[in-house]
Amino acid sequence: MTTPVLPEDTLSAIRQLLARRLLWPRLPAAVDQRYRQHRLEQFRWLAHEGWPLLPVAQALIGGVGWLFFSDSLVGPDRGTWLTGQLLIALIIAGGIVLVRQPALERHYQPIIVVMGAGALCIALLGSMVMDSPRLMQANSYVCLLIINIQVLALRLSLAHAAATAGGGILLAVVLADRQFGVAPDWYMLVWFSVGSLFITLFLGAVLERYERIAFLQSLLLGHESAERERLNAILARHASEDPLTGLANRRALSEALWREWERAGRSGLSTGLLFVDVDHFKPYNDHYGHHAGDAALQAVATALQGALLRPADLAARYGGEEFVILLPETDTEGAVEVAQRVLAAVDALALPHATGGSGRLTVSVGVAARRAEGKGPQALLDAADAALYAAKAAGRHGLVVAPVAQVLSARA
Ligand code: GH3
Ligand code: MG
Ligand code: MG
Repeated sequence: MTTPVLPEDTLSAIRQLLARRLLWPRLPAAVDQRYRQHRLEQFRWLAHEGWPLLPVAQALIGGVGWLFFSDSLVGPDRGTWLTGQLLIALIIAGGIVLVRQPALERHYQPIIVVMGAGALCIALLGSMVMDSPRLMQANSYVCLLIINIQVLALRLSLAHAAATAGGGILLAVVLADRQFGVAPDWYMLVWFSVGSLFITLFLGAVLERYERIAFLQSLLLGHESAERERLNAILARHASEDPLTGLANRRALSEALWREWERAGRSGLSTGLLFVDVDHFKPYNDHYGHHAGDAALQAVATALQGALLRPADLAARYGGEEFVILLPETDTEGAVEVAQRVLAAVDALALPHATGGSGRLTVSVGVAARRAEGKGPQALLDAADAALYAAKAAGRHGLVVAPVAQVLSARA
């Protein structure tokens, strides 16, 4: 489960709750919502994967009862006992079917309250109306198990568990009086049902407290690991991004260059590289100031990025007003095409340059494309750099292709 980063006030509320080691940590509203969701997910697992445990538990309890109390299971008691078993089996089956319905699963607690109160009522009624004292005791034990299962296995909230037990006992007492004319044995009722209810509720409360604390700790842990991931992503970006232009920095370029060079060595395809340098940028800075110079570099960077069509192409700031564009799986012809798009994109910015050659800010481009031969990509960089030098010498605002330093277009 990935926990999204928590708001600061929720975080400090969680930290305070954990530090105070309260007997009963009341969850803040935002956390309570998540806790309910967490409990629902746990219950969903139970309803979809763990449900066979319930019929198995009933079969075991019923089977053991049948074996141990076969002497007492005679006469009307036998019918009463079997009817009780059947009704509880029906309640369990009905409950499982209901809580597995997607529309009803949210309301699993009230469903279990109704089903549990029904099962408890049947077991209690059995303990009141059967003649055999042994069976009466056995049924009281079943009541205890029913409450235990609801609180400890189905993890009903304490209020719901109390409602189940209270409802079941009340229903049994009323039915015993109205339908069977039997008054409850109050001693047995209090000793087995109410007493065991209190003990189970107490255990449930201890369990619930641990679970709440564990949930708060898991929220904090999830938050901290999400926060760490976020900071790592920022660090990784800072390590590979040029802060002024947002393009890849020299380190990221170097890594990409080696990676592509090795890939090209396997594929045998050539790698293209453009060296782009802003023309007469020193006088631009001197004339318009460094702030405007920075803005111009940002605009040029955006133009370069816009001139790239393939996702694998990478524009990087090499340093100062120099950029490098890496073009994997690109031959000279393709690299020239991109260089022309770069020239056109910077021209389209139409940034005035009063002290430059053409009155507009322009760039020069050195183009090289090589198969991955030799030790590393340095030769490719050197070739593009030499071509850029040639483009400057040829009058700027144009591109030159290495190794034949031939001027392809000079527009200055
Ligand atoms: P050429 O046409 O031969 O490339 O001439 P140039 O003036 O562009 O080249 P030169 O290398 O002489 O000057 C580069 C200038 O780029 C120097 C500096 O003022 C400017 N510059 C380098 N980095 C930055 C930067 O990050 N921000 C700003 N505003 N200017 C920068
Ligand atoms: Mg320059
Ligand atoms: Mg330069």
